[in-house]
Amino acid sequence: MSRAAKITVDLDAIRHNYRLARSLNTAGHAVAIIKANAYGHGAIEVAKALEAEADAFGVACLEEGAELIEAGIQKPVLLLEGYFEVSELDYISEHGVWCAVHSLAQIEQIAQAKLSKPITVWLKMNSGMNRLGVHPDDYQAAFKRLKQLDNVSDIVLMTHFFNSDELDKADTDKQLAVFNKATEGLDAPHCMANSAAVLAWPTARRDWMRPGLMLYGSSPFPAAQENADKLIPAMTLTSEVIAVREVQAGETVGYAGNFCADKPTRVGTVALGYADGYPRHAVTGTPVWVNGQRSRIIGRVSMDMLGVDLTGIDAGIGTEVEFWGKNVLAAEVANHSDTIPYTLFTGITRRVYKHYLNR
Ligand SMILES: *Cc1c(COP(=O)(O)O)cnc(C)c1O
Repeated sequence: MSRAAKITVDLDAIRHNYRLARSLNTAGHAVAIIKANAYGHGAIEVAKALEAEADAFGVACLEEGAELIEAGIQKPVLLLEGYFEVSELDYISEHGVWCAVHSLAQIEQIAQAKLSKPITVWLKMNSGMNRLGVHPDDYQAAFKRLKQLDNVSDIVLMTHFFNSDELDKADTDKQLAVFNKATEGLDAPHCMANSAAVLAWPTARRDWMRPGLMLYGSSPFPAAQENADKLIPAMTLTSEVIAVREVQAGETVGYAGNFCADKPTRVGTVALGYADGYPRHAVTGTPVWVNGQRSRIIGRVSMDMLGVDLTGIDAGIGTEVEFWGKNVLAAEVANHSDTIPYTLFTGITRRVYKHYLNR
């Protein structure tokens, strides 16, 4: 490897975070959500690291699921967004893939399909997010219809929260009430909780949980939270200083010259830019970690490079800089770049080398 931009993924941290989710609900199970290439951490690597203990894996679509199955993953794979074309049902049935079903029309498609084996359906309810799911008023009938079908084996009752990271808002309690009422009397397991609910909404944990972001060690909450504080960040993004210069007061750094030194400043140019997935909107002052101390980026992020303030730091060409990881949280970088850790993790691009610890 010549260019030093890389992520280091600590698979022990991911195992620790998965165990934390399970420990909060020892009677329940957890689908480890590894859609979008395990939020940029590498789906096959993460699945292999969790395979011994994860109850199932959640992905967005059949292509992501098939990748795991073809890599030899044996644990069940759940399609969170369901199928997009009826023809996918053949593979779903053949390989025992679990599938979200989010509309009455899909139930009728399953009823008409010729399948080799019955499938496991996660019947999604729209409890308030207004994205996917069967209306609560139609839910009992949808369940009963699925129950009649030879093409359906098991059914799990599922919904998704839209604001569970805001602990003082009433939205999640409202969604819980809608779900509880609409599922009354239905004899099937429940699945509601995303990471925020796993961590902070005990009544949402139920039979199955769906932790995603927390597996990667990032808290969904803006403030401290007793369970989230036990998470361990799994991904460290680093690169190296490739040039150093002393900038005088009044000189600018980078495109548009939007950083202007107000005093003599030692600037390191680091081989990392927005084409690696570092956010272009990160402002001057976004924290970084250099040689055991905090510093900041300087100037506009370029495609392949950015500037780091090395004033007063023992650092030079070849010094490693951490952009997020255990010393600078991805959430801090997100706060400085008008985004969220999800986009930072999933935005890491192909040319960034991936290195794994504790395989
Ligand atoms: C992505 C996703 C999750 C995981 O959400 P996190 O906030 O990352 O924990 C859970 N359920 C569904 C339906 C999802 O799409």
